[in-house]
Amino acid sequence: MDNWELKYLSKCFNCGKTVDQIIEIYPNQTTVKCSNCGITRYYIIRKVYIDDENIIEKELCRKGKYDNWKLNYKATCLNCRKNAIQDILITEYGIYIRCRNCGFTRFYQFHMVA
Ligand SMILES: [Zn+2]
Ligand SMILES: [Zn+2]
Repeated sequence: MDNWELKYLSKCFNCGKTVDQIIEIYPNQTTVKCSNCGITRYYIIRKVYIDDENIIEKELCRKGKYDNWKLNYKATCLNCRKNAIQDILITEYGIYIRCRNCGFTRFYQFHMVA
């Protein structure tokens, strides 16, 4: 599978500038990198499953120290093989990616900042 690269405009927790944050999604890890200062957050794959309890909608309501980011990306799902919209939720604790067609979900847990 090719990695997915997305951008999200947000205020960096490190340099304080509102700039593109570069999100790179790989099967085993996801990184979120500030395009200004380069600080990178690493998230590691923890769980792969079919979601049947609207985990993204639930997590979206949970308030953390930072804003949750909600994105989507059209890609070929690893499970149903359809070119379907993938909902992506990024929080300070982890990242959820879920196929809108079949519910196939990947959860990446926050690992470290470098
Ligand atoms: Zn920064
Ligand atoms: Zn799917």
